[in-house]
Amino acid sequence: MFSKILIANRGEIAVRIIRACKEMGISTVAVFSTADKNALHVNLADESICIGGAAVKDSYLNINAILSAAICTGAEAIHPGYGLLSENSKFAKLCDKCNITFIGPSGDIIEKMGNKEEAKKTMIKAEVPVVPGCDVIEDIKLAKAEALKIGFPLLIKARSGGGGRGIRLVNKAEEFDNAFLTASQEALSAFADGGVYMEKYLSPVKHIEMQLLCDNFGNVVCLGERECSMQRKNQKMIEESPSPAVSSETRALMIECAIKAAKAVGYRNAGTIEFLLDKENKFYFMEMNTRLQVEHPVTEMVTGIDIVKWQIRIAANIPFDFKQKDVKINGHAIECRINAENPYNDFRPSCGTISMLHVPGGPWVRFDSAVYQDYFIPPFYDSMIGKLIVFAKTREEAIRKMQAALCELVIEGIEHNSEFQMEILAEPVFKSGDYYTDFLLKRGQK
Ligand code: ADP
Ligand code: ADP
Ligand code: MG
Repeated sequence: MFSKILIANRGEIAVRIIRACKEMGISTVAVFSTADKNALHVNLADESICIGGAAVKDSYLNINAILSAAICTGAEAIHPGYGLLSENSKFAKLCDKCNITFIGPSGDIIEKMGNKEEAKKTMIKAEVPVVPGCDVIEDIKLAKAEALKIGFPLLIKARSGGGGRGIRLVNKAEEFDNAFLTASQEALSAFADGGVYMEKYLSPVKHIEMQLLCDNFGNVVCLGERECSMQRKNQKMIEESPSPAVSSETRALMIECAIKAAKAVGYRNAGTIEFLLDKENKFYFMEMNTRLQVEHPVTEMVTGIDIVKWQIRIAANIPFDFKQKDVKINGHAIECRINAENPYNDFRPSCGTISMLHVPGGPWVRFDSAVYQDYFIPPFYDSMIGKLIVFAKTREEAIRKMQAALCELVIEGIEHNSEFQMEILAEPVFKSGDYYTDFLLKRGQK
């Protein structure tokens, strides 16, 4: 086992990883930007190193500074968290070169699955059903011809997109040319890659994803699904496990498919296969996230398996001490993402000082966050400031527990979405479980 790990991230996920390390007796190195010198992850880690300025390109995406920090402190492994460098194949490969273990899959696998177009091709080869669409096309005339074949509405998606960004809905043929040009241009400036591909816009659909863990000895286990259909702007807002809409039959098929996909690419460590599931219970591969997922806690709650600890053990060459048949889904878990944003004003991000904080507690209530009273939320990073997670025997009970917990949560001084989350939980459609990714659009939120 490693004796020291550097965490190349910030916010709640850096704190989450530091906690796992502490419990495992591993010492921790935090890295931070000048804007984060008072951040909780810096305080909780055994050592901390400032790696640059506030902008992520100067700090949390600054590969040289992070690797130097690891070498200087003698860290044997780096956990990248999610977002930032977690799906950067160059970073994973450079870690290797520096003899530092990257806690995640190899750079080659990240490259293969991180390119969303390539990933779909790989899945087609492995006989995994994918969302119908086409490859990246650069020529606008050829693209239009292909679009007419796919049919409208369709989505133009950036090959290197992520985090709900780089996706554009085109409703009719007349809108195509303009949408295609703008989408390519936006992709180029946002992801330094103008490549876009198209997909049929499936609606109504559910976003259902399967959590995988793969050790270095060929063992692949699937920890069941997460329901992530409650989204704003293609970004997840509430997640649950299990999904209220997935029958045990469909679950078995999806697990089989996810395991097949992981084996086809020789996957290692934790990863997630995202599917779209339609009303006829047909499911289609959308993308694979080759990293820890934001919403991993709901899976931890229903399986009792600590995903972060297993990521670390896998990277340290420890084989699973359990098999697929030992994975039991117990009860129901829900997560609400607490974002510093105004849901009633186009989800505009908010920043500032938290003047009052009260975090809910009680049995099976978990709050993963990095904020504290008087903490200043800097304007440079993701608006997600915490995740409220509850667990109960049934879905109904879990919803009630979440409602009580949200009621108790007090965050003053900034705008956030906890009241909005309460409104959603109270909606009959949410309660029925029969909700789709277009729920908020239909409700009038963008
Ligand atoms: P999850 O399914 O785990 O929620 P997301 O796709 O929402 O995954 O991404 C997780 C985090 O990483 C988010 O904070 C998101 O903003 C960030 N992220 C992921 N991919 C990208 C990308 N290509 N560019 C910028 N941010 C990204
Ligand atoms: P990202 O890499 O940003 O997470 P995804 O490809 O996973 O992008 O898509 C994000 C969300 O956009 C999905 O969860 C889903 O709600 C919606 N979406 C993506 N592709 C389609 C599609 N073909 N039809 C309908 N909705 C889609
Ligand atoms: Mg996705």
